[in-house]
This record gives sequence, structure tokens and C-alpha cells, in this order.
Amino acid sequence: MGTVGYSLIASTLPVSAFATQQAQRHAEEVILKNVRLETGFEQDDVEVTATKTELFCLTIANGKIKSIQPNRDLPGAIDAKGHLMLPTMKDMHIHLDKTYFGGPWKAHSKRQKSVKDMILLEQQILPEMLKTSTYRAERLIELLQSKGSGFARSHVNIEPSSGLNSLKNLNQALEHKRDGFAAELVAFPQHGLFNSKSEGLMEEAAQMDIDFIGGLDPFTIDGSIEKSIDFTVQLAVDYHRGIDIHLHESGESGLKTIQYLAKKVMENPVLKGKTFVSHAFALARLDEPVLKKTCEQLAEAQMGIISTVPMGGMVMPLPTLYRHGIPVMTGTDSVIDHWSPFGSGSVLQKANLMAQLYGYSSELDLSRALRIATNDVLPLDEHGNVQWPKPGDTADFNLVAASCSAEAVARISEIKAMYHRGKCVFSL
Ligand SMILES: [Zn+2]
Repeated sequence: MGTVGYSLIASTLPVSAFATQQAQRHAEEVILKNVRLETGFEQDDVEVTATKTELFCLTIANGKIKSIQPNRDLPGAIDAKGHLMLPTMKDMHIHLDKTYFGGPWKAHSKRQKSVKDMILLEQQILPEMLKTSTYRAERLIELLQSKGSGFARSHVNIEPSSGLNSLKNLNQALEHKRDGFAAELVAFPQHGLFNSKSEGLMEEAAQMDIDFIGGLDPFTIDGSIEKSIDFTVQLAVDYHRGIDIHLHESGESGLKTIQYLAKKVMENPVLKGKTFVSHAFALARLDEPVLKKTCEQLAEAQMGIISTVPMGGMVMPLPTLYRHGIPVMTGTDSVIDHWSPFGSGSVLQKANLMAQLYGYSSELDLSRALRIATNDVLPLDEHGNVQWPKPGDTADFNLVAASCSAEAVARISEIKAMYHRGKCVFSL
């Protein structure tokens, strides 16, 4: 079933025309041969039993995929060696501006037990960390590239200890890496919007080069859900930004924050599709009817959830969120810093973790699990029809040492190369 796409594209172009095109190709064109693409599913009377693939030649021009042709041994073409082409991954929650990565190893201290403790710690250590934050952000971006991510949504500290320097330093790093990496930024009042009197700084940041207004546990840290969310919503509306708040609070205050934010988005429809809750641990412990109602509210407000796919006693209801059509994304969050010593920088590992946690072990389920790492871009739809890549698509992709998406997720297969807008920015 479902073998479509590439053979049709190829059949419209006779071999002689293809050869002529090769001769006339623009100097900026790049051709890859032996590129493995998924072409459909094999299925018996019960289930999908395997993923079909074939080798192709891929022509890239001006940062886009120009054509996908039958495989040929073209002289001068880059040899993809039969590696599987997958969409670039997207790390949708990370703090590129504060990391130990690129510096000496340091494990997590037991002294800090709460978010409030962490705020006090940050107020001490951030001035020193800022001295190396541009350098370390660049090393962290390189780590992400090596794990297949070419895009990140990075939160960036906006609070009196850092002022706007964390943002300025990160912007420098992103400027240095702009040819191989793209990012959107969230102005993040990490020390509490009102708790640290960051309102003025947030207003300044909102007028700078940022995409989202962030927030932090309105009830626990600022003592008022409404006051904190109202400020955040107004700032986003005034400066045409989205919203992405950290919400670690579980229990009643966490749920009320989600519900209140959804209500405010409904009152300000310009925020629909642009509002996200990161972590949202409150959703993990709801009774089924309350969870269903909350999911319906989130779906109506077109709000997304960004989860780091926590384990242990905090298993998020990701399958339920997906069933309600709520955008679900993931990120690596802390990659070796004062919040956590863990972090591989791989969102493919998060897809693997999701598959393990929710029992996605069949060929079809594993292939679907890739969506959390790629922001829903998958080579095949659930019926096996090719939906990516297509001529005209931006040439953002990975070459992976796997035979299909399902294997890549199950085995966290090695990224052999990453292309960003047609340019190879990482290769082994
Ligand atoms: Zn975070």
C-alpha cells in the first residue's frame, strides 16, 4: 500500500533531459546520490510489518530541494552511502544562554531543593556565567547540530542579575552560527516576573529581537495567577509576540494557571496558535474527566504543550494530548547546567523515551513517534503515502544510520550528517 511520490516525479523527466540538466547546473547546486528515502509501508492483514525504502539522487539549489530522481552513479555527487534521510529535528525548549556545556564538568548540588532555591543560586552565579555564555552557547549549538537539530526555541533569562546581557550574548552566538542553525527566542523572567521586579526589563526585551513572552510558575513564585498571566498576555498582545511559560506547578494552582491562560487566549484570539505551556506537570495527575475537559479547552484555544517527556512519578498524558489534536513538542531543556547534569542534546532520544514510556513498539507506532522530534514532519503519513521530502521543500535534513524512521527512533540511530538550508553543517 501507499507507494507514491518519487517514481512519479522521476518519470516526468527523461534520462537525456536529466543529463542535460546536470551539464547546465548552477555552481550552487549540490547533488547527493545514494540517499535512502521511505516510499511506503508493507502490511499484512493485521498491521504494518515493515517500511519500504529506495535510493535516490537529490538535487539541492538555493537552499531548497530542487528535484528527487532515481538513483544514479553521478560523478561529482556527494555519496550519502545509503543513509536514511530524515527531517531536521527541532529542540523546542532549551536554555542556550546558560549552560555548563563547553566548560568543566559539574554535577548538580543537593543544596537547592526548590525553584526558589534555584533563583537564589542563579543570582549568585549568573554574573560569572555571563562571561562565557556566548562561547558556551556556540558549543551547545554544535552539540545540537551533531544530534540532528537545526532549530531551537531558546528561553533566555531576563531578570535584574543578567539584565539584557544574556539576550545580547546569545544573539552574538546565534549570529556566529546563523548559516547552520535557526532559533526563536523566549524572553524568560526566570527569577519571577514580580518576585524579581522584572516587569520593566521584560517590556524592554519585548521590543527587541524576541518571539515569545515567557513566564514562571505565577502562583508559587509571584503569588498571583491572574496578575502574572494578565501582564504576560498584555505584553504579548502589545508587541505582537507569542507566549511560552514555564509551569512546573502541579496540583490546583497548576491546573488553574492553564485554565486561566486558555481563557485569556480565547479573549485575545490573536494569541491562538501562538501560546504554549512548557512542562505543564499539572496535566500529569488529573482525573480522566478533568483531563478531557482541560484538553478540550487547550484545543479550542489552539494552545500547545512542550514536554521534556518526564519519567518516574510524572508521566505526562501525551497520547491524550495528541488525541485531542493539541500540538505537542519536546526539548532538551537543561543540557548539563546547574539545573540538571543530564542532557545529551538529542530530541531523537526524547522520541525514543516517548516510545518506551507509552509502549510505541510496533513499526507504525515507532515511525509516528518521530513526530515529537521533528515538529510533526514525517516522511510518510499513517497510510504510507510519501509526504516528505518534496521538491520545493527547504533542504533541512539529516542523514541517519538507520533503515527507516522506526529503527531510528527505537535505536536512537547515529546522525551521520546534518544539512541546513542545503548546506552540510555537520558530518561524521
Ligand atoms: Zn526550561
